[in-house]
Amino acid sequence: MSPWKQAALAAYYHGTRPYRVWWNYRAARARRAPVMILFYHRIADDRANAWTCPKNLFAEQMTWLRKHCDVVTLAEAQHRIRTGNPRPAAVVTFDDGYGENNEFALPHLVEHKMPATYFVTLHHVCNGVPFPHDMRAGNTFRPNTIADLRHWAATGLIEIGAHTRTHPDIGAVVDRRRLEDEVVTAGEELQQLLGRSVRYFAFPFGLPANMQPAAFELAYEAGYEGVCSAYGAYNFPGDDPFHLQRIHADDDLLRFRNWLSVDPRKLKIARYEYQSPPMPPKEAQVEGFRRVLGV
Ligand SMILES: [Zn+2]
Repeated sequence: MSPWKQAALAAYYHGTRPYRVWWNYRAARARRAPVMILFYHRIADDRANAWTCPKNLFAEQMTWLRKHCDVVTLAEAQHRIRTGNPRPAAVVTFDDGYGENNEFALPHLVEHKMPATYFVTLHHVCNGVPFPHDMRAGNTFRPNTIADLRHWAATGLIEIGAHTRTHPDIGAVVDRRRLEDEVVTAGEELQQLLGRSVRYFAFPFGLPANMQPAAFELAYEAGYEGVCSAYGAYNFPGDDPFHLQRIHADDDLLRFRNWLSVDPRKLKIARYEYQSPPMPPKEAQVEGFRRVLGV
């Protein structure tokens, strides 16, 4: 971030702080405190791409979370969304499955007894194949192995989740069998490889355009307990607990604090509403009503 932007954000953050403190106090009293689900990718000091966060910054962010939030599992997050939340809650998640996370991020979480959900892309963790977007940039980052995932899952703190087979843009998948394979079959295979249930699914890219209602329906029918998007919104009690909205954990501490203390601007982000199966066409409805009314 440029120094000018940093200064503008600092002014905004400190200027809106009294309002936020008041807003958070009222939300907590009404058991409507936010449930904030963060997503990370790769924790390493080389800053090789925009989704790499340095180790010391990750550690600072975890310290900040422990101090200001209840750090909970996705299941506890869903429980609070269903029943009320008296204190800001945060969930730590990761996407893709970068092998470097074995070195610092995952041991750090375990050392501090912080739960996290770790979403992996099956083809890459099974075959050790780096991601095409990294290869294009000349990076051959090693994915986690199934043995790594079993090891971390065995700590009881790191839950493994599904992140498709090949990391496609799910919003652009039109073939039904492909959709089923990416959303459901990849998760079932991951489950078998781990010998543990895979309860959550995260959409690659995670913006509204990268999702589709049919994928939500498949995930729901397949028995996933929740699915995660990634377009930067908070969750509140009363929201649909099946669809968990996530926030990118920015590698700038000020921006991170700004978002996690409830930035009023972020409250305006429209929720992607997963709609249950579409209503029959209008004509059919009218026909139906006529039959009922006998006209
Ligand atoms: Zn991803």
